[in-house]
Amino acid sequence: MRPFTYLTPKTLDEAISLHQSHGERAKYIAGGTDVLVKIKEGKLAPDYLISLKHIIGQDRPFLDPETGELYVGAFCTHRSIEQSPLVQHRYPILHDAVKNIGSVQIRNVATIGGNLVNAVPSADAAIPLIALDGRANIYGPKGQRSIELGRFFLGPGQCDLEAGEILTEIVIPPLLSRTGSAYIKHGRREAMELPMLGVGVLLSLKEDMVTCAKARVCLGVAAPTPFRALQAEKHIEGKPVDEDSLTEAGQIAGRESKVRDSIRGVAWYRREMVEVLVKRMGLKALERARARNKEVLKTED
Ligand SMILES: Cc1cc2nc3c(=O)[nH]c(=O)nc-3n(C[C@H](O)[C@H](O)[C@H](O)COP(=O)(O)OP(=O)(O)OC[C@H]3O[C@@H](n4cnc5c(N)ncnc54)[C@H](O)[C@@H]3O)c2cc1C
Repeated sequence: MRPFTYLTPKTLDEAISLHQSHGERAKYIAGGTDVLVKIKEGKLAPDYLISLKHIIGQDRPFLDPETGELYVGAFCTHRSIEQSPLVQHRYPILHDAVKNIGSVQIRNVATIGGNLVNAVPSADAAIPLIALDGRANIYGPKGQRSIELGRFFLGPGQCDLEAGEILTEIVIPPLLSRTGSAYIKHGRREAMELPMLGVGVLLSLKEDMVTCAKARVCLGVAAPTPFRALQAEKHIEGKPVDEDSLTEAGQIAGRESKVRDSIRGVAWYRREMVEVLVKRMGLKALERARARNKEVLKTED
């Protein structure tokens, strides 16, 4: 491996100023599970690696008690998110996704920010965070800005970050009442493999517990970037959610997909699995919304 200098700034400003000093010869590194692989394979050859792991900040997801927003720091490891009771209980779609990334060893070091900035179509964490209407907070040489995660991905390996900018956190707005959600990573095996397909569905129900108030259908590896199947969502919203409506939504999502053949799977199979898994995740989200509502009613008694 080509030698490089490893820099350990303690603040965001220090990291940005180091990046500005070294320009294209520098690369940020968080957990290093993508960067170091690329360096070893000779796809990257930075002279300086600027570590983001020494920057003091939140390292666990937390709920702002005043706004009800969930904050997930970009430097949170997948393992810290997986082990968060808050995420397990209230944001199962995110828990479903992070718990199957790589292996425990990978999840102990790999960060959610690195997963998003790496911007591969198969990034497991992208789908739930888009489904949850997450926003990316970004800090850089020109200051702070925020962008919807749904617009963050520009193409395979490309995201909306300018030189020197750092993704600092993802902010998730308060969940509507009676919401359930679910994600599945589909592949030949669950561990140590990138998904052939990632499917996430979020459903919020009206008071009758049948009619859909809000739907999110998000897909990964079904197009060059993670995306929302808007027509499928529209098909579910405002109507009773049941097996039939979710079957139709799956078929619509299949038509919205821009699947292709790759080493992990062929296009026709991916499209068929979009249909099957949108329905399956929709039913799981529905079941979770109903179970959550029962819990809430019980605590109100
Ligand atoms: C064996 C193995 C299995 C894997 N399995 C999966 C899997 O199942 N699912 C999956 O989605 N991924 C998987 N991955 C990919 C990888 O682990 C994840 O993408 C991981 O989340 C990357 O995070 P990291 O902190 O290691 O990123 P790094 O390698 O440190 O960085 C990745 C990229 O993001 C940039 N970067 C990192 N953090 C920031 C930030 N906050 N702001 C700006 N730029 C930043 C870096 O400069 C670099 O370009 C796997 C990798 C390996 C090696």
